Amino acid sequence: MPGFPLLLDVTGRRVLVVGAGAVGARRARALVEAGADVLVVAPEVADALPVDGVRVERRRFGAGDVEGAWLVFACTDDPAVNAAVAAECEARRIFCVRADLAQGGSARTPAVARRDGLTIAVSGGDDPRRATVLRDAISVALDVGDLPSRPVRPAARGGSVAIVGGGPGDPELITVRGRRLVASADVLVVDRLAPRALLDDLPASVEVIDCGKSAHRHNLTQDEINAVLVDRALAGKRVVRLKGGDPFVFGRGGEELLACVEAGVPVTVVPGLSSALAGPAAVGIPLTHRGLAADFTVVSGHLDPGRPSAEGVDWPGLAAHAGTLVLLMAMDRLDRIAAELIAHGRAASTPAAVVHRATLPQQRVVRAPLDRIADVARDAGIAAPAVVVIGEVVDVLGAAALGDGGTAPA
Ligand code: SAH
Repeated sequence: MPGFPLLLDVTGRRVLVVGAGAVGARRARALVEAGADVLVVAPEVADALPVDGVRVERRRFGAGDVEGAWLVFACTDDPAVNAAVAAECEARRIFCVRADLAQGGSARTPAVARRDGLTIAVSGGDDPRRATVLRDAISVALDVGDLPSRPVRPAARGGSVAIVGGGPGDPELITVRGRRLVASADVLVVDRLAPRALLDDLPASVEVIDCGKSAHRHNLTQDEINAVLVDRALAGKRVVRLKGGDPFVFGRGGEELLACVEAGVPVTVVPGLSSALAGPAAVGIPLTHRGLAADFTVVSGHLDPGRPSAEGVDWPGLAAHAGTLVLLMAMDRLDRIAAELIAHGRAASTPAAVVHRATLPQQRVVRAPLDRIADVARDAGIAAPAVVVIGEVVDVLGAAALGDGGTAPA
């Protein structure tokens, strides 16, 4: 049957569902959501039913049941009953979907996805799995912005800024919303540690502004970045500020947000997976582990531990505390930080690890006791960007831990 695709307005119209197993219950729920007047006839009823708005009659199907229905679903697990339902419908010119037989009945249900006012319905001919596979692929592609869902960009619209956390670097570790915003951006303002693989797929019309930020080199100052965000947004562009990890974890995302607010530019923040969490996870280090660590502290290591600073990292306090320590931006001072922690009471033998370029193809990890971790990392040629983890959790998963071969998991 080639079939003729239609969307039915079932609002307020009687739809009969015969059978109340998993399939019948699912159909009944979908029909109620579509506004139908749903009657379920079945001797036994799945836990998923009844739901609000569905009338359930606990009995066997009888020939007269189809009377008054616009549409009928035969969803019992007995082919003979389904065939009888279909025959009754045929005689009364009522469309009937048979759940057990793709070619049975006079109508079929497609695999359906709904997104933002769109309905995607896919028919797989006699093989419903083909429809499901394609429907799922379309859903994902829409979610991540790989497929357009609007004909053209609205001509007159105000500019905006989205401050998007891109995750630790693997392009698959950005959020769905972040990915979608990247795909629809007019201007992309990117950091060095953002998931740069996402830049490969951009249309040539997208303006990419590379901040090239590294610990030692600032291609653009923070003021210049703030200014370019505001400037492009005021010119009506959709600006995405794509940052590494989470925008509000050592990302200066707060300053960028304030700059937009002060300039009257609409701004949103999309959280991201911080390298503080993703780095350890990528190499099989749990930040907490029952019986071993019930908390973790994320600390910036970019200031000298010997010097009191405005941020006031309490190294002696952290040394005395038992929880897991996660250090970002610490590679330049790892030897001094380790010495400071040991001087204030952390055991020199505390397991430590350095995860370099976590989740990227260049991922590497080294492990050593706290008093040797800086030397071991230096000898291995490991520098920034890296996440340092200090605590008993580093070794807790032992050989089961991932990534010790120095490669990112596939
Ligand atoms: N907002 C970011 C952190 C920015 S500070 C986040 O939430 O992840 C920059 C520091 O983050 C780097 O010096 C390094 O310590 C860490 N970092 C970011 N990406 C990393 C990665 N893929 N692997 C290891 N460390 C990373």
